Amino acid sequence: MQKLRNYINGEWVDSRSTREIEVLNPATGVPLAVEPLSTPDEASQAVEAAQAAFAEWRHTPPITRARYMFRLKEAMENSFEELSEIVTRENGKTLDEARGEVRRAIENVEVATGISSLLMGYNAEDVAQDIDEETLRQPIGVFTMLAPFNFPAMVPWWFLPYAIACGDTFVLKPSRQTPMAANRLYEILDEVMLPPGVVNLVNGTHDVADRLMDHPSVKGVSFVGSTRAARHVYAYSAEHGKRVQAQGGAKNSLVVMPDADLGRTVQAIMTSVCGCAGERCLAGSNLLCVGDVDKGLLPLLKSAFTSLRVGDGLDPSTQMGPVISAEAKGKIVRYIDGAIAQGARVLVDGRGLVVPGCKEGFFVGPTLLDGVTPGMTIAQEEVFGPVLSIIRVGRLREAMGIIAENPHGNAASILTASGAAAREFKYWVACGNIGINIGIAAPMATFPFGGMKDSFFGDLHGQGRDGIEFYTDRKVVISRWF
Ligand code: NAD
Repeated sequence: MQKLRNYINGEWVDSRSTREIEVLNPATGVPLAVEPLSTPDEASQAVEAAQAAFAEWRHTPPITRARYMFRLKEAMENSFEELSEIVTRENGKTLDEARGEVRRAIENVEVATGISSLLMGYNAEDVAQDIDEETLRQPIGVFTMLAPFNFPAMVPWWFLPYAIACGDTFVLKPSRQTPMAANRLYEILDEVMLPPGVVNLVNGTHDVADRLMDHPSVKGVSFVGSTRAARHVYAYSAEHGKRVQAQGGAKNSLVVMPDADLGRTVQAIMTSVCGCAGERCLAGSNLLCVGDVDKGLLPLLKSAFTSLRVGDGLDPSTQMGPVISAEAKGKIVRYIDGAIAQGARVLVDGRGLVVPGCKEGFFVGPTLLDGVTPGMTIAQEEVFGPVLSIIRVGRLREAMGIIAENPHGNAASILTASGAAAREFKYWVACGNIGINIGIAAPMATFPFGGMKDSFFGDLHGQGRDGIEFYTDRKVVISRWF
């Protein structure tokens, strides 16, 4: 079985930690790798290597740094299928979903290849008599990233390409549940021959994360994960004087208007709720049916939920894979049980699903709950599984009121043929990502990715221009020549 190592200062090194865990294939329960839970001191070594590499790397011309990005893109393309398979094996999502994830990771590298233009500042002559002013963007130092389990290849790549293209150096701590894709990506980074210390990887858990936030040489922290952890990361990193972007959890609504095209709406809902087994921060979770749309929609939805093929993500006929762990499965089942106890009716029940040939896998089938009211726990909290709660409302305003009352603000979608309804929705709804006839409102790599309210703590989001701003400081030079 593969034994994972840390990547520090351009070398693969064995952790000296005595603590280790197994990475499991969630479709089969079979161990895939042994992962060390590194010590905080090993995290410090990675930060110190990154700090030592910074002076030369920040002085490297951006066009030279961009050439590393071109090489990284090429190397990732060459390993595209292999990377996708690793994501499926350790996370459980289908191979097509994994391919989509790796593609978005590569797209972020592609955006970062434009760093020479993206770093340009602006200037003005004669801001006062004979005085000119210019802005410069400069790299800052060592940045760290703490990743979640659900997009093990893509989420770290919302950050790493921008950080290093900007001239910063980087330390990644992958999720302890899904560290293998990041480990493979670092082998690819190793092929690209970046100067030692520019990128570092430390496998581990909370104590490593804390050291990566409180080490004096770290300048900033990027985090993606649950709201609970995001609050801790935001407060703890700020307490230690770091700049922070902390993306948290979600509770996303899909609003269906009476004029929606039902066939396309069902497709959008299925992708949103059951894609990646519902383990997406953009996954639809509450279905707000406006007016009498439920009459035509629910029979179609029930049939789509019932016929979805659930299985091992490596099987090309599978449409939905397992959830990440036995604990995750237990939590989802408890949410469904709790909803029933509070008065919800089960239209399609995914509890107790057994997939032939995958008896030890962590499967929950698509689950459709009717008669949910906005005050029920299932309507309020992030379930992170393939469960959809149907809530009936009279008008669009009522649906928007339910969204407004939820503490999260990651994503919301409207399905409608009405431009006026769509405009009202996008204007008023306080979510970072708005879908109009789109079930998963995922911004392309050139756009910022982040939420509002309890789904995001900080200011600048991930990806694109926000990445460039997060990873640089602005300096204004005011000059007069005599
Ligand atoms: P998680 O919060 O359990 O872990 C995320 C990372 O934080 C891991 O690397 C973990 O080791 C670290 N961590 C967690 N608690 C910590 C603590 N107390 N101290 C120090 N470090 C800590 O999240 P997860 O279960 O891996 O991922 C699922 C969550 O991520 C969901 O809530 C999902 O909505 C969210 N998510 C959000 C986005 C977004 O863009 N907003 C994207 C993907 C996932």
